Amino acid sequence: LTFLGIESSCDDTAAAIVRAGRGAPEILSNVVDGQVDLHAAFGGVVPEIAARAHTEKLDLCVMQALDQAGLTLRDVDGVAVTAGPGLIGGVLAGVMCAKGIAAGAGLPLVGVNHLAGHALTPRLTDGLAFPYLMLLVSGGHCQFLLVRGVDEFTRLGGTIDDAPGEAFDKTAKLLALPQPGGPMVEREARTGDAGRFRLPRPLMDRPGCDMSFSGLKTAVLRTRDALIAEHGGLRVADRTDLCAGFQAAVADVLAEKSRRAIAQYLALSPAVPAFAVAGGVAANQTIRAALEQVAAEAGLRFVAPPLRLCTDNAAMIAWAGIERFRIGLTDDMTLAARPRWPLDQTSPGMLGSGK
Ligand code: ATP
Ligand code: FE
Repeated sequence: LTFLGIESSCDDTAAAIVRAGRGAPEILSNVVDGQVDLHAAFGGVVPEIAARAHTEKLDLCVMQALDQAGLTLRDVDGVAVTAGPGLIGGVLAGVMCAKGIAAGAGLPLVGVNHLAGHALTPRLTDGLAFPYLMLLVSGGHCQFLLVRGVDEFTRLGGTIDDAPGEAFDKTAKLLALPQPGGPMVEREARTGDAGRFRLPRPLMDRPGCDMSFSGLKTAVLRTRDALIAEHGGLRVADRTDLCAGFQAAVADVLAEKSRRAIAQYLALSPAVPAFAVAGGVAANQTIRAALEQVAAEAGLRFVAPPLRLCTDNAAMIAWAGIERFRIGLTDDMTLAARPRWPLDQTSPGMLGSGK
């Protein structure tokens, strides 16, 4: 079974080919064309610019994905596309492109929830069996999910305001570092002293695994302003220490809330326990190490996909498409693009066609 995957829900245009047979699935190609330079001047992703860029880049990405896999559309068995959630212009561009290819080549079409793509990635990379506990932590999302099946997710808790990726990006912006902020803050933090600034760990005293990150961002802003007032600017060590302090606070919150989510998960699901992470922030080495330790303490298998499969990509969409196709979840030309689409709701086709 060979699927083409298409992803365009944020600021990466991506296409990939994944093949799954009896053995481990294979990623035959994984093309990601970022738009960082297009949005750099605006300090954030501009939806209108993103949508236009997706429209321009999608065809080429698909052709490159096929080329690199050494295939033509005749070798492909289906087209999977992110149908939401995300910036609606970009999602629409991807869905239109996928519909065109599916109709033109007479292939089945499968709409995929972007978050399900992230959440099912550990099955692509490590063949993880259901059920497992997943921490999905990215630019726009932060939640603990009990993954029970291809289309069965239970949300155990999550952020009540910002996502950590957003907090990383805003912290970078406050410290005049380039976007995307996550990798930049991580690089600065490497030489910083995490103990110099004690930043808040919000909601630690509240039971359950809900989280909050907006206060952390404000604390970075206040600390920065105090430093500037005191020294007339930010010195190198101020920046690296603040990055390290911020990263440590995020890691602490995620680790403590993971402990609680694991306890909830073990109570709900006595099957072979595993804890997996996905999403762009899972690329962070300090955060990964903290989560790995929490899993080890609880005696759980820990699975973290390789970095390029943690951030947005189309291989995860192709894979989720294969998973859905295998259990008969396909879509038709009524597939709708959805700006919002919580994971514990149901298939796109069912809502898109009003059934
Ligand atoms: P979503 O998947 O929620 O729609 P997204 O598509 O923006 O959001 P991803 O591509 O999964 O998210 O992740 C991007 C986010 O991950 C950005 O906020 C980025 O700063 C963050 N990120 C990437 N690498 C790192 C890192 N090394 N450390 C911390 N954060 C990181
Ligand atoms: Fe994402």
